[in-house]
This record gives sequence, C-alpha cells and structure tokens, in this order.
Amino acid sequence: MFYTSTRDKSIKVTSSQAISHGISAEGGLFVPEEIPHITMDDIVRLADCDYIERAKEILSLYLTDFTAEEIDSCVKGAYGEGKFSSDKIAPLHTLTKGVEILELWKGPTCAFKDMALQLLPHLLTVASAKSEPGKQIVILVATSGDTGKAALEGFKDVNNTKILVFYPNDGVSPMQKLQMTTQEGSNVGVCAIEGNFDDAQTGVKKIFTDKAVAAKLAEQGMMFSSANSINWGRLVPQIVYYVSAYCEMLNKGEIKPGDGINVVVPTGNFGNILAAYYAKEMGVPIKKLVCASNANNVLTDFLKTGTYNRIRDFYTTVSPSMDILISSNLERLLFLLSGMDDAVVREWMGELSAKGSYKVSDDVFAKLTELFDAGSCDDNGTKACIAKEFKGHKYLCDTHTAVAVSVYEDYAERTGDTTPTVIASTANPFKFSKAVLDAVHPGMTENLDEFEMVHALHDETGEVCPPQLANLKGKTPRFTGCCKKEDMEQVVFDLLK
Ligand SMILES: *Cc1c(COP(=O)(O)O)cnc(C)c1O
Repeated sequence: MFYTSTRDKSIKVTSSQAISHGISAEGGLFVPEEIPHITMDDIVRLADCDYIERAKEILSLYLTDFTAEEIDSCVKGAYGEGKFSSDKIAPLHTLTKGVEILELWKGPTCAFKDMALQLLPHLLTVASAKSEPGKQIVILVATSGDTGKAALEGFKDVNNTKILVFYPNDGVSPMQKLQMTTQEGSNVGVCAIEGNFDDAQTGVKKIFTDKAVAAKLAEQGMMFSSANSINWGRLVPQIVYYVSAYCEMLNKGEIKPGDGINVVVPTGNFGNILAAYYAKEMGVPIKKLVCASNANNVLTDFLKTGTYNRIRDFYTTVSPSMDILISSNLERLLFLLSGMDDAVVREWMGELSAKGSYKVSDDVFAKLTELFDAGSCDDNGTKACIAKEFKGHKYLCDTHTAVAVSVYEDYAERTGDTTPTVIASTANPFKFSKAVLDAVHPGMTENLDEFEMVHALHDETGEVCPPQLANLKGKTPRFTGCCKKEDMEQVVFDLLK
C-alpha cells in the first residue's frame, strides 16, 4: 500500500517514507491511498487476543513495507512488560450501563499521547533505516502540553535522533511544565515560546517546510521529522485502541458482534477522533463520532455550519491540550470526504492561511453531518461535570475527559440516542490537580502549591497520584529558556551545534 499527500495526489510514497518525513514537502499531510478493511470475524477473533496482538494485526495492514518481525519488535518495545500500568494497555471503565470510559493514560507520562508516542520512536527508527539510511533524525515538536513530554520520554536516548520541544510559556499546566523542563536524556531540548500553541505549531511547520533550513541540515547528515499528529506514525497507533475498545465491549457483554457503538472524543488537533473515523471506515461498527471541544469551539461551529473560522478569541482553559484553533488533522478528513480532491484541499487550506476561514462544499458538509455530532463545554461546565461524576459515579475525570463526558450527556439528552458509547479519556486527573481539586472542593486550592494540591486531591478523593508525577516534587528544571516565535529557527540550530 502507498501513501499520498492531501495537497498533491501525484505523490506516492511508502509508509516508511511517510513516517520518516512526517509532512509532505509541499505542506500536505500523508494519508494511505486506501483504507484497509477488517471483518466482524476478524474483530471477534481479536477480542480473544491481547493488546499487543491487536496492535500487530492492525499496524501490519497499514505499514506494508515493514516486516512482521519489525512490527513485532516495535509493538513489544512500546507496549511490552512494564511500560503501561495496566495489562490491558487501554482498559475500559464502566461509568454507567452502556457508557464506557476508554482510559488512554496508563502510559509513562499519564496522557493519551503515550499510546502513540511510545510506539513512534520505534516506527521511526525502522522507517528511517529503510528510507533514509545513515541520516540522523531531528524531531521538532510543538506542544500544547502533553505531546511534548510524551515525545521526550519516547525519544530520550534513542540512537540517531535528537528532539526539540516548543511549548507556549503560559499555556500549559504547572505539572506539564515541570514534566518537560526536568526531562532527562542526552539528545533532548525544551524551549518555551512567547505565544500560544498555534504560534508554536505554525513556527514548527514553517521550519519544516523551509528549503534553506532543510539544505543546511542535509549538509550535516540530518533531516527533520515530526512527532506531532501530522505524522502518520502518530495516527496509526491510535486506530488500534478503537478496534481494541470494540473488542473489550464484546468481552464485557455490553454489545454483540455487529452492534453499533458511538464514540466521544475530547478534541484539539483532531488526531484522536480522526483515528476513530479510520477505525469506522475499516469496519468497526461506529455510528456517531461525537467531537467534544472546550471554549475554543471552532470545531463545534465547523461541524454545525460547514464554515471553519479561526478568527475568534483564543481562550486559555483548564483543558489546555485542547486549546487549539487550527486543527491540523481535519485536513486529512476533508481530503477523504471530498473523494481525495487535492485541488479543493489546497484551496481551503490556502483560504485558511490567507484569511482565516473557509467553507466546505455542500456535498462534504452533508457527509460531515452524517458522520459527526459536536458540542462544547466551557471551564465552568467542565468543573461541574468533574464534581457530578465524582459524586454520582465515584469516577474522577481529568479536565479533558470531563469536556467529553459533559458533551456526551448533552448529546444523549438532545437526541435520545441510547447506543452503547465509548468516551475517550485522555489524561490522569493528577496532571491537572488544580482544576480537578477546585471542582471537587471549591476554594480549597487557595494558597496551595502544585504538590500540596496533589496531596489534597488524594485526601479528598482517595485516588492515588501516579509515581511518575508525584516524584517530580523537588526536581530542579534543566531547561528554563523562553524565546520569541521569530527566534525558533535559531533555537533549533543552537541545539544542533
Ligand atoms: C492531545 C490531547 C487532546 C486532544 O487530542 P487531539 O488528537 O489533538 O484532538 C485531548 N486531551 C488530552 C489530555 C490531550 O493530551
């Protein structure tokens, strides 16, 4: 199977090339030319397998120039013994009958980004040895908080790679910041920027596609790649857990083979929900995909009107990993829904960067409406939902998960839809202790530092803070730099010196 670019359909590359390059040279995103299918018999068979077997089977359908041995070693390297705190890797937790929380944060950094970023370094090492032998890979990351840490942890001390992470100085939680600035490893760098996540992402994209920069790197035997969800190697591991979730629903007796489910996803860059769409197209009986946003509800408006308009106020919320106004992966969906029309994608993306908005065709809008529902929830709603779920169901959600739960409850009430539902849960609540504590015990956060809040949250709820977060207490940051967005390129060259 080959991959092409959303902005130039004449491009044809292998999965190794798609993963090692990260983004196509003309700025488009790589997508597989066709979506592989699995049958209900396959799914029923996979229900008897563990996560590693499920991952191997799904990945082998997409990474067709990887050998079975290569896939086996990548998957075991990512999800093998001791990597995740649950044997199931992505377990389900029953919230109420027919509503399952898919816990995607059992990995080393306690956020769902680990699901992909524990695997990506392995995929990238194999892919670049095939398609770019001898080159050193330089990973640039723009992060709204969780990707940065998960990528650093995934790539630290991986041979032949260097990684540099940019994060918005005022846009991440104290715990997220501490996780990144204390990162260990000899091949890592971390720098704050004066700006928001979109500034960081735009800056990184600009460096990626700058031919002069690429030439300078090539001279030194290096090339850029991306660990952001624009890299196909980030997307493909995420498809696995939607297949796996359906298997787990079967095993729990929540559904019978062939029954439909709905999936609700707290959304930022549109990577996670796009993976659910791929799972649906592969043959997992997903009925509605419900896209949940926080106050930055550009996607809610888009899915309801067909007009994407990023010209609006940007809010810094208690769910910072969703504080995004330009959702990169939407481009892949538009390419697919327009029948792989690269010209129309170029046109819409051109309008987005020139004037900040575009309107999709009636045909694409009709398909969007059929596939997706959408809703948003502001900070007050998020906190109210955390309090309600904790009191009502003894379940402690993080702020991002709470956005999804709240949007789901609105959806269920508005539509009367009682289809069994999987809600993606994307972070451990202790990553966002302040907002979560404030939700379960308003006013209690006053005068407490981050780790006192962790303690108080434990006392209030009985939940235990994962050791990898608790152990950050008292660690001295290694990386304290903050640059202007114009200076990002210089920071990159400084690291590579
Ligand atoms: C990244 C992230 C999201 C958003 O996921 P996308 O794939 O960017 O839509 C939601 N919640 C958390 C905790 C995250 O880290």
